Amino acid sequence: MVDVISRATGRSEEDITEVWREEGDLGLAAEEMVDGKTQQRLVQKTLTVEEVMQTLDEIASMEEEALESVDVSKKVGKAADLVSASSPREARYAVRNLLQNMRLGVAEGLIRDALAEAFFDGEHVEDIQHAYDLTNDFRQVAKACQDGIENVQELEMELFRPVNSMLAKKVESIEEGFEEVGRPAGIDFKYDGVRAQIHVSGGEVKVFTRRLEDITEQFPDVVEAVEQNIDAENAIIDTEIIGYDPENDSTVPFQRLSKRVKRKYDIERLRQEIPVEVRPFDLIYLDGSLLQQTYAERLESLRGIVREKRRVLRLVDHVETSSKEKVAEFDQRATSNGHEGIMMKKMDARYKPGKRVGYMVKLKPVMETLDLAVVGAKWSEGRRSGWLGRLKLGAWNEEEQEHEMVGRMATGLTDDELERITDRLEPLVVEEDGRDVTVEPEVLLEVEYEEIQQSPTYESGYALRFPRLKAFRDDKHQADTKEKLERLYTQQ
Ligand code: AMP
Repeated sequence: MVDVISRATGRSEEDITEVWREEGDLGLAAEEMVDGKTQQRLVQKTLTVEEVMQTLDEIASMEEEALESVDVSKKVGKAADLVSASSPREARYAVRNLLQNMRLGVAEGLIRDALAEAFFDGEHVEDIQHAYDLTNDFRQVAKACQDGIENVQELEMELFRPVNSMLAKKVESIEEGFEEVGRPAGIDFKYDGVRAQIHVSGGEVKVFTRRLEDITEQFPDVVEAVEQNIDAENAIIDTEIIGYDPENDSTVPFQRLSKRVKRKYDIERLRQEIPVEVRPFDLIYLDGSLLQQTYAERLESLRGIVREKRRVLRLVDHVETSSKEKVAEFDQRATSNGHEGIMMKKMDARYKPGKRVGYMVKLKPVMETLDLAVVGAKWSEGRRSGWLGRLKLGAWNEEEQEHEMVGRMATGLTDDELERITDRLEPLVVEEDGRDVTVEPEVLLEVEYEEIQQSPTYESGYALRFPRLKAFRDDKHQADTKEKLERLYTQQ
């Protein structure tokens, strides 16, 4: 986008980055750049909505056409045309539109409340939320609101339009899990794969990710598995797709499987390289919505439509029990088979789309924390501009006598923490490159993470998945070593 703005305004990328850093928003940077453009266009033409829409469509279709070799420069050119035809204010929104972030400060809940306010004097908030959960489309909900609350209540789930998946809370112990979901509970293996919501209707199958992206094309094997082993006319199944190594039959980590999610070509080859197995664990639609049914009932229906076939499609590994010992045993089995841990699920709970309610909880083994040095950071955007974030973390390599990067801490920091980190890091900056800074590795943090993975990109050869700040380690002066990382990697 910096390139786009540069082409449209003739200003250097450094200038743009500078303003971007100050404002924390590329839209505002574009506005300022267009405003300060030295060469004004001779004939001032007004940009129409139609032209904008057409350009956006063109950019989007370039993406679809050029799957094998996305010609970025063409896209940049189109986008630059749009920005250069814009007034300063238009440029702000053109850029934000392209980045899919309008920054209007309008969140889901606000629209829901506004609809309730506009049509029902603030009543029926729950109904509106529920209708949105089912349809994922506020245009449709708004239209139904116009026609009265009965119409909102009648909105239904539709096949081939993904609904938000129910999310899991985290618990630290089996006991805490039982407190959350009650006894007896349904216990599943927690696989390290891809959450897939699979829609089946009249012989057709579509596969969606948790982010509601359509990944049907990437997974012809999943489509086949479902066609052959799910016996239902109309259904929506909640599943985890897991990859395995055809050589030794063991499951592969998400990191490798994710290659298949992103890839849009060479699909057949990848399918041989990383074959997958579908593991259904819930059913949310069977010739009608099952959201109001209990998990126990949904599971019963799921069992009724699944034909199991090893390495193709099998129900999730599952037990139902009230016994802590049994859960511990099951958990042991899950982790020794290379899975992440277990999920504990409430037998009499409904399905709540998009919610992190305590109807299902995850229990993963606790990882030993690491003390790591901050070796770099990035100036933040938006509300947090002026603060350093996206911290680069390094472990100490004893042989090379230097820190090597093992991850980035991008989220989960509070304002207070960011402020404290910025105060500590700013005097340590040794180099700036656009928004990126390199710092003397003097600030040590105690870091929690989900997992250690091998990494081809980081010089250390390892990467932490989802690193989080546990504490500042101002009392320590030496980061943990790469050897320790290696040891933890082999133990996990
Ligand atoms: P997390 O991503 O750590 O929040 O854990 C929730 C994710 O675990 C879900 O979105 C699924 O992708 C995945 N998962 C793996 N196995 C299961 C299972 N048996 N039941 C539900 N979710 C599962």
